[in-house]
Amino acid sequence: MSRRKLFSGREIYNHEKSDSLFLEAVKKNILYHKSNCREYEEILDSMDFHINDLTSMEDLYKLPSIPTMYLKTHYLASMSKRRLLVKATSTGTSGTYSRIGYNFLSLFYGAVMAWKLLQFHGLFSLKRTNYILLGYEPHRSNETIITKTQLLSTFMAPAKQRVYALQYKDHGYEVNFDDIKNALDQYSRQKNPVRLIGFPYYTLFLLKELKKNQISYQLPKGSMVLLGGGWKGFYQEETEKETLFQMIREILGIEEENCREFFGAAEHPVLYCTCPNHHFHVSNYSRVIIRDVMSLEPVKNGQPGLVNLMTPMADSMPLTSIMTDDLGVLYDGNQCGCGIETPYLEILGRIGMKEIQTCAVNAADLLGE
Ligand SMILES: [Zn+2]
Repeated sequence: MSRRKLFSGREIYNHEKSDSLFLEAVKKNILYHKSNCREYEEILDSMDFHINDLTSMEDLYKLPSIPTMYLKTHYLASMSKRRLLVKATSTGTSGTYSRIGYNFLSLFYGAVMAWKLLQFHGLFSLKRTNYILLGYEPHRSNETIITKTQLLSTFMAPAKQRVYALQYKDHGYEVNFDDIKNALDQYSRQKNPVRLIGFPYYTLFLLKELKKNQISYQLPKGSMVLLGGGWKGFYQEETEKETLFQMIREILGIEEENCREFFGAAEHPVLYCTCPNHHFHVSNYSRVIIRDVMSLEPVKNGQPGLVNLMTPMADSMPLTSIMTDDLGVLYDGNQCGCGIETPYLEILGRIGMKEIQTCAVNAADLLGE
């Protein structure tokens, strides 16, 4: 009931109003997983956690969180695989990945969340749109969440045509920027808006290629660039982002306000979309705690630490509180100035572990760098 209310609320960025519902929904979610997933129960017991420890939002940090690294080696589920409608993996070409599944109700709430968030950020359109996907062409061998989300994102406006940078050939994926250039030539002469969707890394690579060959376009009015999937080594360099937006304006003729970035994790089914100032505000459907890298105690807003993501969305797996291997900072919402009052998350980078392969690292391999 509390979860339904949380997801059906009219506002999506109001923590003050949604805090009590969120806490209630989280508690119910924990109890559900505790009684349906023995491993999860053991984890909670071994950490001496009791549901009564959560009396206010300030207590949320007491809930033991499951590290994403743990999910890469353990399959935790609160229902049988038969009930899962969508099964997907986190970035999975390197061998270590989490297997994540969602049941109907979790997906339903996911869809409600995505719908509200995308509508709030003005991403739905009825205009037929040409899509350029700087990512993987869907193929049955590819179960990564990012590929599924990239494909889903081509339904926010009806697709006239889709072209992929990474095409599936006989022996796997190959990068094909020539097709992308041809598509840009063709689309820039049409009236339909163009949406370029992809990893920031590929986008920057494409723009550099175009610039090198002195090619630039004025894409039709209403065109957008949607970025997602992480920044790899660019994390620390905010200037890289500014460079990217500047190049998008110069080379594609798309203004900065029409560039959005998305953040999400396979293990945390909540979507984050940047505000006009390029910040990831935390919506009502999740909360973020930044923890000290050594003590794991929560730190004050403005201080860096490990990113702990929480949501009561999923029934299929105990994903209520997930400890990522990302470093980040949470800022007070009013520091942004866009009008959204909830805190915003800045991802600083991934903690250095060689075995953690990100999408972007694999991208770098494919590009031969
Ligand atoms: Zn903002």
